[in-house]
Amino acid sequence: MRVFQDNSEIFNLLSEGVSEGIIVVNKKQEIVAANSSAEEMFGYEPDELYGKSLNVLIPQKYRHGHDEHYKGFMQKREKRQMGKSLDLSALRKDGTEFPVEVGLNPFELAGETYSMALVIDITERKLREKELSHWAKIFNESLSEIYIFDAKTYAFINVNKEALRNTGYSFEEFKGFSPKNIICNYSDDDFHELLKPLQSGEQVKIKSESLLQRKNGTKYPIEIHLQLSMVGDREAYVAMVMDITDRKNYTKRLEKQVEERTEELRKALAKEKELGELKTRFLSLVSHEFKTPLSGIMTSITLLSKYTETSQQEKREKHVNTIKGKVRYLNNILNDFLSVERLETGKVTYKVEKFPLSKLVNEVIYNANMLLKTGQKINYPENIDGINVWFDEKIMELVLSNLLHNAIKYSPEETVISIIVKQEKYKLSIQIVDQGIGIPLKEQKHIFNRYYRAENALLTQGTGIGLNIAKQHLENLKGSLEFISEENKGSTFTMSIPVETQVK
Ligand code: ADP
Repeated sequence: MRVFQDNSEIFNLLSEGVSEGIIVVNKKQEIVAANSSAEEMFGYEPDELYGKSLNVLIPQKYRHGHDEHYKGFMQKREKRQMGKSLDLSALRKDGTEFPVEVGLNPFELAGETYSMALVIDITERKLREKELSHWAKIFNESLSEIYIFDAKTYAFINVNKEALRNTGYSFEEFKGFSPKNIICNYSDDDFHELLKPLQSGEQVKIKSESLLQRKNGTKYPIEIHLQLSMVGDREAYVAMVMDITDRKNYTKRLEKQVEERTEELRKALAKEKELGELKTRFLSLVSHEFKTPLSGIMTSITLLSKYTETSQQEKREKHVNTIKGKVRYLNNILNDFLSVERLETGKVTYKVEKFPLSKLVNEVIYNANMLLKTGQKINYPENIDGINVWFDEKIMELVLSNLLHNAIKYSPEETVISIIVKQEKYKLSIQIVDQGIGIPLKEQKHIFNRYYRAENALLTQGTGIGLNIAKQHLENLKGSLEFISEENKGSTFTMSIPVETQVK
């Protein structure tokens, strides 16, 4: 102790200028010197520490451990730091504790062994470390992917755990990367453009959507929030990235649903419109198409009433037939309209049954006879007497009478209309062959469209419905309707039904 008092000036000179606390203890761990920084740090008056045991500076709970530590240290007698790796606490005079880092330096002076402790109050540093570790934890454990990259080179500086997990890259791999390595279709120039407002200070945050590619090649949609920040003394961008696969899927599902509903609505509207059009058309057709036959009927009735003589029976019959024919014609138009409505609303039900073909053909021809023009003749099909058909009888009648009426309508006087029945292996076909006006080649592809009427047919009455519904009904029953035609020469319409429906 004396030695120190003797040399106190030198000690003071050496130790007062430093901000670290310096405490010298002898072998018995009594304090023989302390600089003012140490006194202040521990809350003692000047010189108050002299002669006190080192223990006064060590919290009770560490004292025992400290003794062991100190002994071991003295035995090894080497310069060392205490507290670098340990969490050392020191005790102030007022009983409060504070964290310290202690460096120990044993030396000999005048035959005595001393030990000099360099004490640094690390309260501030500990606080900073705690704060930092708090932020580091948030950074690392965030469920958003966080990427930090250099503002100049765009090289990644740091990425968090979630980024590693979702991309499948290791931290080492990331070190050689810049965002263009993981963001699809993004060059450095694109990035430069995107980051401009941050660089210029125009904006403090940027939000963008993109596609990120994992190491295994799979891609996922992301939302990026970008900010300019400082890492140490260099500028860096911090990108918070959220995997928005679920959101995208949800949006996609929603979009698809909206699309489907819109489509359903569009169809329903189109159907509604079609039915509306049909009604309008029906009304205008009623006024046009019904007028001529009705006035024909009217004329015939007027004439009928004039033929009172018994000898005029032939004339009466002619007019009665005309009336019958025109009423049937009107009935057909009405049936066509009803058919369209039923087909449109899906209300058609078919009744397939067995019936003799000849009976139906005879009826159709008989009814058509009344519409024949002067000199027109219908050739009956040959050898059909034994044929029984399994089909919807009403539909076959509707189709055949439509075809036959057309053949009559679109053929001039003095022509022949032939009905030919052919039995093939898989089908039974009935052909109606006429020598009429034919269908212009360029219009043939439209002829089965509803309401379509060829240019050369417009002077003849018609609705453009018959062929359309005939074809639809036949196809619904696995049959078909086709034609060949040449303008001014004639047409051949062929209806076929599958042979399974036909039993001899
Ligand atoms: P509509 O005869 O009432 O006009 P259809 O649907 O039966 O309606 O026929 C559609 C169109 O096909 C007719 O307007 C006509 O142009 C043409 N067509 C149908 N059958 C014949 C035929 N046998 N000869 C010439 N053209 C025909």
